[in-house]
Amino acid sequence: MQLTNRSKVVVNKKMSFVERLYLPAIIGGLMITFKHFFKKKATISYPEVQRDFSPVYRGQHVLKRDEQGRENCTACGLCAVACPAEAITMTAAERQKGEEHLYREEKYASVYEINMLRCIFCGLCEEACPKEAIFLTDRIVNSDYQRNGFIYGKDQLVESTEPGKRVDISGRLKAHRHQ
Ligand code: SF4
Ligand code: SF4
Repeated sequence: MQLTNRSKVVVNKKMSFVERLYLPAIIGGLMITFKHFFKKKATISYPEVQRDFSPVYRGQHVLKRDEQGRENCTACGLCAVACPAEAITMTAAERQKGEEHLYREEKYASVYEINMLRCIFCGLCEEACPKEAIFLTDRIVNSDYQRNGFIYGKDQLVESTEPGKRVDISGRLKAHRHQ
């Protein structure tokens, strides 16, 4: 049974005089190359030129704080369970008296790590989180020649409290709530 009409019957016929010259075939090949000079380039001069990111691009994670600057994460572990790459680990701790301004919930993650070499940026951790604590952002995880710097801890994941340094995830949050 023939599935497509792309197959060609190969005939072992003798080449004609023109075919034996090879020049027409070479000129034909050069013409194809020449035509590409006038076509729009598919490549860009990265990193000087960068493509627009999709609004739902999934890059480096952020652990969000609430409006009062308290960490949202309650160390429930659901993100770690949902992660197909087993990239997330954490240690839970109990919030002490006087730490209410640091952590929103009574339990928080004293250690929270993501192995960026394992992560496949699927976004399942974001979907599993019941506290709107973890989000993927449009930030790119920097490349490196060494592997040991790719385990990101809270120092790299929790958003800064400094004004102007908060990570805007409003677009993702909107998409999330309308799912
Ligand atoms: S994006 Fe996917 S692979 Fe990466 S940490 Fe989250 S759940 Fe795991
Ligand atoms: S990021 Fe969300 S899902 Fe993960 S431990 Fe914290 S609260 Fe739970």
